[in-house]
Amino acid sequence: MAIERTLCIMKPDCVRKNLQGEVLSRLQKAGFKVLGLKQIRLTKEEAGAFYGVHKGRPFYDGLVEFMTSGSCVPVALEKENAISDYRTLIGATDPKDAADGTIRKLFADNKGENIVHGSDSVENGKHEVNFFFAESELI
Ligand code: UDP
Ligand code: MG
Repeated sequence: MAIERTLCIMKPDCVRKNLQGEVLSRLQKAGFKVLGLKQIRLTKEEAGAFYGVHKGRPFYDGLVEFMTSGSCVPVALEKENAISDYRTLIGATDPKDAADGTIRKLFADNKGENIVHGSDSVENGKHEVNFFFAESELI
């Protein structure tokens, strides 16, 4: 299996609930190496661009609103098989559908406010890590 990069974003609900340490601990226990981590407040333009693939969907405006409602913590992660293993760890988009023990099942309120973002392909993992981090910030 190949070493891959994936991007976690602890979303504003995660930060409001003070779950940053809890989520980070679960990522580290699952074997993810933290290459970079920062706390930021996204602008509407940045959130809109990051979720550009969803532009035009009914949830898009609400998603941009939510992602700019407070601070976020992007975390650049690396691990063998990172994309798939991270998606398994966080669970399905809607916590109602997420498997027991997953981060979204344990901590998320609903499909929109679902605690964390996760990359969905090797290519997007690289692209999304680079959206938030310069190569010099990845250690
Ligand atoms: N989302 C939403 N309603 C939906 C689908 C998605 O509010 O019906 C939000 C949710 O926060 C989700 C994000 O948009 O995490 C991106 O959607 P995607 O389908 O890519 O889910 P993910 O990859 O985050 O599981
Ligand atoms: Mg997605």
